[in-house]
Amino acid sequence: MTRILFWLALALLVYFAIRSKLKQSQRRQEEARRQQQQQQQPPQPSEQRQVVASEEMLRCAQCGVYFPASENVPIEGRDYCSPAHAPLK
Ligand SMILES: [Zn+2]
Repeated sequence: MTRILFWLALALLVYFAIRSKLKQSQRRQEEARRQQQQQQQPPQPSEQRQVVASEEMLRCAQCGVYFPASENVPIEGRDYCSPAHAPLK
């Protein structure tokens, strides 16, 4: 009879040990998920990229290529994508 009790106690011990380990791994997974969500949420650089992307575009009078206005080379009222395309005087 004491043998059966011994094995029962052992089985219970193993059962609780496995259960606590499972709980630990579940907690770790939840924490990892939360950290991933936090990492995904805060950075919002897409808006800044959209601002850059929506910068005014100009058309080169020489090659017809569209380029951002910040790179404009205006000469005699015309816009050029680079000094190389601007007419030399
Ligand atoms: Zn050009």
